[in-house]
Amino acid sequence: MTDIALHADLVGQQGSREQLNTPVLVVDRAALAANIATMAAFAASKGLKLRPHAKTHKSADIARLQIAAGAVGLCCAKTGEAEALAAHGVIEGLLITSPVVSAPAIARLAALNLKTAGLKVVADHPDNVAALGAAASAAGKPLEVVIDLDPGIHRTGVASPEAAVALFEAIQAQPSLTYAGLQCYCGVQQHIEAFDVRKSALEDRGAYIREVIAALTAAGGAPPIVSGSGTGSHRIDAELDIFTELQVGSYVFMDDQYLACDLAGEGAEASPYQRSLVIDARVVSANSPGMVTVDAGFKSMSTDADPPQVVAGAPEGSRYFFMGDEHGALVPSSGAPPPLGARVTLAVPHCDPTVNLYDAYHVVEGETLVAIWPVTARGRSR
Ligand code: PLP
Ligand code: MN
Repeated sequence: MTDIALHADLVGQQGSREQLNTPVLVVDRAALAANIATMAAFAASKGLKLRPHAKTHKSADIARLQIAAGAVGLCCAKTGEAEALAAHGVIEGLLITSPVVSAPAIARLAALNLKTAGLKVVADHPDNVAALGAAASAAGKPLEVVIDLDPGIHRTGVASPEAAVALFEAIQAQPSLTYAGLQCYCGVQQHIEAFDVRKSALEDRGAYIREVIAALTAAGGAPPIVSGSGTGSHRIDAELDIFTELQVGSYVFMDDQYLACDLAGEGAEASPYQRSLVIDARVVSANSPGMVTVDAGFKSMSTDADPPQVVAGAPEGSRYFFMGDEHGALVPSSGAPPPLGARVTLAVPHCDPTVNLYDAYHVVEGETLVAIWPVTARGRSR
């Protein structure tokens, strides 16, 4: 039974957060709306377009809110993510930000191109460009291709200005492909906690991206779009005069990893973005002194980051420790732990992989459940 079925009685009604089965992924509607509006206003103030990354939320509902706030489309990590959004009506301006290489995925991509408008995909190898060209030609609709540039982490992307130019020429040689521009996502730099250290790292990368753009321009391939940036770097990237659009993702939720980063720099009063995503868990065992056990473990949140902060429902300073697949320990630094059955609200350590563990978002305004949104593209990693 899915989350949605578990709470079918509450859909469209004013349910209560307290009644929900746990563990449950909870979104604070007001905080989410504020984050979406703040980023939209920031991009507009800098003359930049916004193509937020759907890998964070995998949700057609949240994508629609971002588009309503002015986004030109959504980034998707994989073909499946784009298919899922398109199947739920988000069909304009999708950009797939990882190379699509396997033959069946390329065939699906060419089919998706027929059902969407302005679909773009990145590529980083001439062989892949040839395969994309053949598929687009067979499907009968040109496909837009963006050159993916490796910022130096060797994950994906072309590795030099010369390779970027060679790829541009490979794209131009395919009658069914349209050259759409350049992407560069500096992933490693996003979570550098100190603003100034992050800034100088990104300025260094900016100089390299400029070099690549100059080489492309000299070869007749001035990039129509330059897409990149993330939540950690957007305020810095917006000043570099390189990007035409921002691919920010995590700002909608602000997980523990990003809340630990100074996003706005010296002189800013507070983070411009607020926590909007949490996990409600419950105490399911309380038989040992000084601790209780809650019903959220490895299966309820990603484990690549530090364990979650305890947001509410336990004495200040309480700590969470993983206790396996289904459980966690809650240990107060002082005071009595919460009693059996009590609700405890946990932060999300790293939002993107956590969201992928849930069927649905339970959207709340305070203690009131106001909506249930499916995690539309859950599991669509291929
Ligand atoms: N663009 C790409 C290619 C990414 O992989 C990611 C996240 O991993 C993002 C954008 C969004 O970044 P963030 O979540 O830091 O805003
Ligand atoms: Mn992430």
